[in-house]
Amino acid sequence: RAKQRSRGEVNYFNHEMSVEIQERVKLLQALRQAFDNERLFLVYQPQVDLVTGKAIGVEALIRWRGEDGKFIAPDRFIPLAEHSGLIVSIGEWVLRVACHYQAKLTQQGFGHIRMAVNVAVPQFRHPRFPFVLRRAIQDSGVDPSKIELEITESMAMEEADFLLQTLDKLKETGISVAVDDFGTGFSSLSYLQKLSVDRLKIDRAFVNEITDSRRGAQIPEMVIQLGRRLGLQIIAEGVEDKAQADTLIGLGCQEAQGFYYARPMEPDPLLDWLKANR
Ligand code: C2E
Ligand code: MG
Ligand code: MG
Ligand code: MG
Repeated sequence: RAKQRSRGEVNYFNHEMSVEIQERVKLLQALRQAFDNERLFLVYQPQVDLVTGKAIGVEALIRWRGEDGKFIAPDRFIPLAEHSGLIVSIGEWVLRVACHYQAKLTQQGFGHIRMAVNVAVPQFRHPRFPFVLRRAIQDSGVDPSKIELEITESMAMEEADFLLQTLDKLKETGISVAVDDFGTGFSSLSYLQKLSVDRLKIDRAFVNEITDSRRGAQIPEMVIQLGRRLGLQIIAEGVEDKAQADTLIGLGCQEAQGFYYARPMEPDPLLDWLKANR
């Protein structure tokens, strides 16, 4: 009986798995179609100077509205796109659109606004990436010093040797680099020192706990001190209220991004927001 039951469980498990796999295949097909039919778009979330509250940058974030009008979260489809390699084309498109939009912001008098663009591992690893980046910069006419690539801390650590070489090459274009979701991985200090990055982005999870207790502020405090020692800028993501902002200011953090300041917005509303924030 025991044997029978365990076999039943195995079959049940396989069935669950195949349903999940089928769903992922369907979602990936739908994503391909959405990309081909230009139904993906970018929104931009402001990044501000914590002390003055003035905008210093924006982060480009991808959006997908399905045929039924409902949004599918990037946390759901980006991993699929990464796994299938589709992220290489999607990511190139994101980079081009974001560069063009920064150039447009410059025309409108917001040339100082930095444009942060998320870059996925397969995109980064692709041998053509330095070329893709250069071309996006050239075609848009954007000032490369206003483009910042966001790589995740886990990528920074896993791709160690490869990254050291590639980053230096990419930085020749004049762009800057931020380490996203910082604090969730296990960066080694000595390695971080070798890596030519400009900014650390404190992960939202830590900002979320920052006012809970004294312990809650320990990781952000450490990251801010680390940044100071290594000469790196620090930005906190996911700031949702004034108490969190005040705590971060007290810890010496320079920049922030979060719903407390602004939600991600489509290009036209963002321009209005920037005008009002000026
Ligand atoms: P991320 O790069 O860490 O982006 C920040 C995420 O936090 C965004 O979620 C943003 O909407 C959200 N967020 C910002 N402020 C707050 C806040 O105050 N509270 C809360 N609860 N959330 C806040 P989003 O847009 O859903 O993106 C999720 C992730 O998907 C991104 O995390 C990034 O890893 C990935 N992603 C988004 N767009 C792209 C893209 O164009 N390319 C790649 N490769 N990945 C992308
Ligand atoms: Mg990011
Ligand atoms: Mg992040
Ligand atoms: Mg994240």
